[in-house]
Amino acid sequence: MKSAFVPRLINGPFGDPGLYVSLRWLGRALLFDLGNLERIPGAAIARVSHVFVSHTHLDHFIGFDRLLRIFLARDAELVLYGPAGITRNVAGKLQGYTWNLVENYSFSLLVHEVDRDKISRCRFRARTGFEAEKLEEQPLQGLLHSEASLWVEAAILDHRIPCLAFALQEPTRLNIRTDALRQLGVPPGPWLSELKQRIRESSPEDTLICARWCEQGKEHTREFRLGDLRRELVLETPGTKICYVVDAIFHKDNVRRIVELARGADLFFCESLFLDRDREEASKRYHLTARQAGTLARLAGVRQLRTFHFSPRYSGQAQQLVAEAQATFLGELPPDEP
Ligand SMILES: [Zn+2]
Repeated sequence: MKSAFVPRLINGPFGDPGLYVSLRWLGRALLFDLGNLERIPGAAIARVSHVFVSHTHLDHFIGFDRLLRIFLARDAELVLYGPAGITRNVAGKLQGYTWNLVENYSFSLLVHEVDRDKISRCRFRARTGFEAEKLEEQPLQGLLHSEASLWVEAAILDHRIPCLAFALQEPTRLNIRTDALRQLGVPPGPWLSELKQRIRESSPEDTLICARWCEQGKEHTREFRLGDLRRELVLETPGTKICYVVDAIFHKDNVRRIVELARGADLFFCESLFLDRDREEASKRYHLTARQAGTLARLAGVRQLRTFHFSPRYSGQAQQLVAEAQATFLGELPPDEP
């Protein structure tokens, strides 16, 4: 069974950071960071429903204008999450243009500003010339965003400013074994959706699931215990987890937060601006080295590490940055210590 997530970096490892995640069965996409978006086709950008911005340094936010341009004439609301200050940054971008011919446009932007324990929300509508409309604050308890087929968690990291890291998770996949269903002698129907729903809700094993169907004009009913059906009929596969970490200093607090967020991820995207030999420079600039990225991946027990966001000083040496991170991840080089 394929994962619902199809991730790809928006640029090469030396380009602006950003991750585009296509949602396989939903026909839309998520975007993590807004670096330069020129390499993403407009049609792909138009499928984005939620944007998650780590912080608003130029290389992570300059793509906002391309996004806005593509969405402006669309009948859509784009949802954007970002760290403390994001509302002011978005308002500033919007105020940089003149908006006198958009009163018939229905596009709007819903900004979520993420703080330690709360989310402040603000809507900007094209038809009002993007005036800021403050909405009610929401308490932040765990998840940043959740829907039936995915959820997103965030950690606030220290990059001398708050910088958000994100984990995207797919729920456990539940598939019906067709051979077992045939043996049971009951045709598929809405009762299978109910079965999956009850499993997701962790209903008790003895919950009764009722299958009703019609055969040659006659109605049939059969009842089953949830626990029995689950064992015989359902194939359960853990959902995919993707973690996206950029721009953070390697100190104890950040390490703890990143490891907690990334624990057990299938795919861990992690910045590594510097090589270990330039670790002083990395820490002065509140960034990670390749060895530190490898250390984080190892501590978090991820399955696969993908490093990116390399400093241009290493142009032509991408392989060295990758090798250092992977060797540390695999335990061939000693881990770094915060
Ligand atoms: Zn950066």
